[in-house]
Amino acid sequence: MQQRRAAQAGTAGPAATSDAPDIPVPSFPIPEPSRWALEVVGIAPVTPSVLRLRLAARPVAPAGSEAMPPPEGAELVYAPGQDLALSLPGPGDATINRRYTISDYDSSTSVVELEVVTHGDGPGARWITKTKVGDRVEAFGPRGKITVVEGASTHLFVGDEASFAAIAAIVRALPPSARAIVLADVADEQEHRRIEVPPEVVVEQHWLHRDGAPAESPERVLEALAAVELDPAESHAYVFGEFHVVSAARRQLGERLGAARTSPKPYWRAGRPNAGHGEPVRDE
Ligand SMILES: Cc1cc2nc3c(=O)[nH]c(=O)nc-3n(C[C@H](O)[C@H](O)[C@H](O)COP(=O)(O)OP(=O)(O)OC[C@H]3O[C@@H](n4cnc5c(N)ncnc54)[C@H](O)[C@@H]3O)c2cc1C
Repeated sequence: MQQRRAAQAGTAGPAATSDAPDIPVPSFPIPEPSRWALEVVGIAPVTPSVLRLRLAARPVAPAGSEAMPPPEGAELVYAPGQDLALSLPGPGDATINRRYTISDYDSSTSVVELEVVTHGDGPGARWITKTKVGDRVEAFGPRGKITVVEGASTHLFVGDEASFAAIAAIVRALPPSARAIVLADVADEQEHRRIEVPPEVVVEQHWLHRDGAPAESPERVLEALAAVELDPAESHAYVFGEFHVVSAARRQLGERLGAARTSPKPYWRAGRPNAGHGEPVRDE
C-alpha cells in the first residue's frame, strides 16, 4: 500500500546552530482535522500483541454544519506520525476517544491502516478485539503535531509496541541520507518488526526486551539511550510510549540535546486509563 503524505519530505536542512529556532520545525504541513466515517474492511494480527486494522475512510460534514458535505472519496491528508481519534463505546451510552497513529493510507481506495495494541482492558483494547469486517466507527483527525523535523541528519526514536506505527511512519518519510536510530522497548523477540525504507536511508534498529519487567520502568531505555552517541547539533529525538518512560527519556535527552531537539509524546500510562479525550492523565 502506498503511504499518503501531505507533501514530500524536505531535504535535511542545514546543521543546527545556536541560532536554530527553539521549536522543532516540521518538514510537512500539519493539516486541519475533520470528521471521518470509517468502516472496517480488514483485520489481521501483526505480532502477538498488535492487530492491523484496515478501514475505508469517508469524510463527514461537521454536525450542525450548513456547509455542503465534503465530496465522496475526499482524501485523508496527513503528516507522517499523525493519528486519528476514534470515538469508541465508553461507560454506559457514553463514547470515549482513543487515538491511533495512521500507519498507512491508500488514496486510490481511501483505506487507512492503524495498528492497535490489544493489551489491557480499556475501551480501545475491548473494541479492537471484538470488531469485525463491516463494523463502523467515527473518527476525528488527523491529530498531532509531531512529524519529521527539519535540520537534523540523525533522527533518534524511542518507543514500544503502541508507538511502532508512529516510528515507522516517520522513518519511512525521512529524506535520503538521513540516519535513523530506533530503540524499541518490547515484551520479547516475538514483537520484533522491520521498518522498510529506501536504500538511501540508514536505519539502526535496537531491540530492548522487557522479559516480564514492568513496562513503566525506564531503566532499560535510559541505559540504552546513554550508550547512543549523539551530536546535539545534528540530532533530533522523538520519544513515544508509556508515560513514565517518556518522562524519564525526555529528561535525559533534554539534558543532552536541549528541549527543542526532543519531541516527546506519552501514549498510555501503566495502571491508569487514558482520559476521555484520549491522552494519558498527567500528575497534578
Ligand atoms: C497521539 C497518540 C497516538 C497513539 N497511537 C497508538 C497506536 O498507533 N497504537 C496503539 O496501540 N496505541 C496508540 N496510542 C495509545 C491508545 O490511544 C490507547 O491509549 C491505548 O490503546 C489504550 O487504550 P485502552 O482504551 O485500551 O486502555 P485505557 O483505558 O487507556 O487503559 C486501560 C488499562 O490498560 C492499560 N494499557 C493501556 N495501553 C496499554 C499498553 N500499550 N500496554 C499495556 N497496558 C496498556 C492501562 O495502563 C490501563 O491499566 C496512542 C495514543 C496517543 C495519545
